[in-house]
Amino acid sequence: MQKVEHIGIAVKSLAISIPLFEKLLDSQCYKTEQVESEKVNTAFFQTGGTKIELLESTDPGGVVARFIEKKGEGLHHIAFDVADIEAEMKRLEKEGFVLLNEIPKPGADNKLVCFLHPKHTNGVLIELCMEKK
Ligand code: ZN
Repeated sequence: MQKVEHIGIAVKSLAISIPLFEKLLDSQCYKTEQVESEKVNTAFFQTGGTKIELLESTDPGGVVARFIEKKGEGLHHIAFDVADIEAEMKRLEKEGFVLLNEIPKPGADNKLVCFLHPKHTNGVLIELCMEKK
């Protein structure tokens, strides 16, 4: 795996959290994007080489809504850049990690992504991501 590409934070409301993070980071949100497959609206900030991704649920039954219900707002996942997502998925599966999707799926910000089950990663949801070519 390469660098931490972004850190995902679950929030109840982008309308509230975008201005909050703009103040916090002293940096403008450069992009918002709806990700249909994950039932979220996302907002991105650039902080040096690593991005911050805010996630707001678009569906009360969606994964982010359920996460907030259980744990409250906060750190949701850490995403690592990988050069070859399929090779990395195979490697991790061989190591005993559980992939939440068997084939890479389209994520926000022009990426192909795969999530690892947090049960096997000390409770931290891990996302692999690779720039779409
Ligand atoms: Zn992410």
